[in-house]
Amino acid sequence: MTQYVYRFGGGVSDGGKGDRNLLGGKGSNLAEMASIGLPVPPGFTISTAMCARYYDEGERFPDSLREEVAAGLAHIEQVTGKRFGDAADPLLVSVRSGARVSMPGMMDTVLNLGLNDETVQGLARASGDPRFAWDSYRRFIQMYADVVLDLDHGSFEEALEVAKEDRGFTLDTELSAADLQELVAEYKQLVEAQWNRPFPQGVHDQLWGAVGAVFGSWQSDRAKVYRRLNDIPADWGTAVNIQAMVFGNMGETSATGVAFTRDPAKGDRAYYGEFLINAQGEDVVAGIRTPQYLTRRAREDAGARAASMEEAMPKVYGELAAVFDTLERHYRDMQDIEFTVERGALWMLQTRSGKRTAKAALKIAVDMANEGLITQSEAVLRVDASALDQLLHPTLDPDAPRDVLTRGLPASPGAASGFAVFDADTAEKRSAAGDAVILVRTETSPEDIHGMHAARGILTARGGMTSHAAVVARGMGRPCVSGAGAISIDLKTRVMRVGDREVAEGDLLTVDGTSGEVMVGAVATVEPELSGDFGALMLWADAARRMKVRCNAETPADCRTARGFGAEGIGLCRTEHMFFEAARITAVRQMILASDEAGRRAALAKLLPEQRADFAEIFEVMAGLPCTIRLLDPPLHEFLPTEEADFADVAAAAGVGVDLLKRRAAELHEFNPMLGHRGCRLGVTYPEIYEMQARAIFEAALDVAEKSGDAPIPEVMIPLVATARELDLMKAVVDRVAEAVFAERGRRLDYLVGTMIELPRAALRAGDIARGAEFFSFGTNDLTQTTLGVSRDDAARFLGDYVGQGIYARDPFVSLDVEGVGELVEIAAERGRATRPDLKLGICGEHGGDPASIDFCEGVKLDYVSASPYRVPIARLAAAQAALRR
Ligand code: PEP
Ligand code: MG
Repeated sequence: MTQYVYRFGGGVSDGGKGDRNLLGGKGSNLAEMASIGLPVPPGFTISTAMCARYYDEGERFPDSLREEVAAGLAHIEQVTGKRFGDAADPLLVSVRSGARVSMPGMMDTVLNLGLNDETVQGLARASGDPRFAWDSYRRFIQMYADVVLDLDHGSFEEALEVAKEDRGFTLDTELSAADLQELVAEYKQLVEAQWNRPFPQGVHDQLWGAVGAVFGSWQSDRAKVYRRLNDIPADWGTAVNIQAMVFGNMGETSATGVAFTRDPAKGDRAYYGEFLINAQGEDVVAGIRTPQYLTRRAREDAGARAASMEEAMPKVYGELAAVFDTLERHYRDMQDIEFTVERGALWMLQTRSGKRTAKAALKIAVDMANEGLITQSEAVLRVDASALDQLLHPTLDPDAPRDVLTRGLPASPGAASGFAVFDADTAEKRSAAGDAVILVRTETSPEDIHGMHAARGILTARGGMTSHAAVVARGMGRPCVSGAGAISIDLKTRVMRVGDREVAEGDLLTVDGTSGEVMVGAVATVEPELSGDFGALMLWADAARRMKVRCNAETPADCRTARGFGAEGIGLCRTEHMFFEAARITAVRQMILASDEAGRRAALAKLLPEQRADFAEIFEVMAGLPCTIRLLDPPLHEFLPTEEADFADVAAAAGVGVDLLKRRAAELHEFNPMLGHRGCRLGVTYPEIYEMQARAIFEAALDVAEKSGDAPIPEVMIPLVATARELDLMKAVVDRVAEAVFAERGRRLDYLVGTMIELPRAALRAGDIARGAEFFSFGTNDLTQTTLGVSRDDAARFLGDYVGQGIYARDPFVSLDVEGVGELVEIAAERGRATRPDLKLGICGEHGGDPASIDFCEGVKLDYVSASPYRVPIARLAAAQAALRR
């Protein structure tokens, strides 16, 4: 018989070292903490396998589970010495979800389960604290009504507010035992009125209701959205953890808190967290009371008065610090912990690898490697390559004028500007329309995640550093300021107020998640400076990777940036970008408008010195490195005007009549320019264009070689080749020009001629093409477009539906369609190498900067990937990770 229940605590750990897939993250870590002797309240986990079975069998539990759960309860009773439903001294339990990966706030939890009209009296007597007992009961009813019975939770909150107002109180804690007893009676009436049945008094009924609700929450809308955003398969399911309650709200020697073993924002090696005396866990996360700091140092740094845990409870704090160290040594990673102190006794309720900012991930990985906790290779694997983006992104320009509206907590670093929007749907809508938005909420909840995802930055009026907004924003890498208490949002008039200032929805706002400042307007930003840790990790990554990383760049400035980020050459220099420059475009147009070859050559002669100077500058920046220069690729009509108003000016500048210009533009018009007269097809028709470009390349290379002695290695690349013959013809042009230039200069130079592979025919015929090509560079932008038959310029309009419905897992123009386009790449690599074993292979489509695609490239053993300058570090790290994974 399959085992579904796994016990832990009290010296028992059925789950042993923890199997996340079976027990979920929370359950496996509880089992693991129990197995290494940490104080964990006893309990048991119903495995994720039960979740699948529950859904398979029409949301019913098999009878065998009842027996197993009874045994689990008996275990808790035996360890605690209390009995479930005992009228004199009842055992209370928590019921919590726990999937394989943490899905913060996505699924349900019920606390204080086991209370009813009878046991509440027993709890009052046994604890000697009737107020605590009645408060626990009213919390339980409220949670149960919300989570299990799905009743309107607003009505319960309202009843609580009215109870306080009637008595002239502002804080929950002012309510007496008698007040709470009255509130419980009201709550029970609310349940009966809305549910048409009395609140369940049978403790086993309560338990099974809660277990069903937790399994049910796996299919809630918000859980589904979260899974979609985070690529979590629906069939993983959740586990259910049932555990003896421990109480942080049993007076001044009790407390509850959340902590990280290191700073999750900056990565510093300092305990980091918040706690509340005489409170339950939900109070910390809900942000109702302001939590106190864990350490004295943090309290002093913040200039706060309320005692830190280190000061208020030194003995338990010492125990907690020892637990932190044990956990870090055991898990070899930064941990995110929940704990409770019940009358001076410390209990661990949860541990998991802590979510962290990219900055913290980097620092923690490097520190841990230096501390000897992990190896350098492990450190390289620990940092999410895509998340490096966060470090490479601009921060606020310190000198830019700023109009600070208010301040909140620096919940997630980085700065962002955008139009203020006040709800998640608006954020999603405006962002889809292309606007940068800042999502402003009183507080966020899991229902807001699609809006948080769509927003550039997030601002909340309530909630601490561990609030939903803060945790989720850090995970997503969105700058976030939380708990900016001076803000009030009027959702009717769509205005947010701070004192007497107003910001309407749609006004520009800037948030700085590093400082906590909120500014009116869009504030200028500056490029980031990279830390020593960044350099260290990159060195380790470089030592681990096999593939080279080049850049896609065509200006000296971009080349310099890319080289600064560690680019080892240029993988793609798109020469057409140089043609568009104001000083050249006229000569380019004269070339296009010329009626014969002589006219074209005359115009090209004007372009030659310009193009040569461009290449010389680039070769200087990239001294000694390979530089792939692609000959002209786009259809010529792109260089002609389209607006009526421009025709006269352009015609005058080019020295032709407007009529001729219009006629030529009409002649060049194509229905499908992407499949039209572009790429090497231009070179086939007008070889003089490629001749001029080749001459510019070789003359510039020789100039630089003569000047600096450091000869560049030009790699001349022919675009959009479909057949071997096309390449052969174009290669002949390039070789002929090279020989001519070398003869004129009396000096030779090493160079390569190769082709892009960006058409399916080229991939299939790679064996022939490789006879003439010394390298292939996969142009996966066009290869994706031509393989999928999806226009890269128009796809955005419908690709969302495709990704939404799982037709493609991700946008195939962002992350390579490994199955389809990937197969063509594999075929081309294999056939190309069969012809020419030393064929150099690279990728220069946008996918060259995407970690998942880079992993694929390692799999087919490409020699290099090429990425845009800011993605070069991401590519270096991703290439290293890809190599280490194999
Ligand atoms: C490609 O097609 O992948 C490529 C790099 O060329 P471009 O994007 O310039 O068409
Ligand atoms: Mg292309």
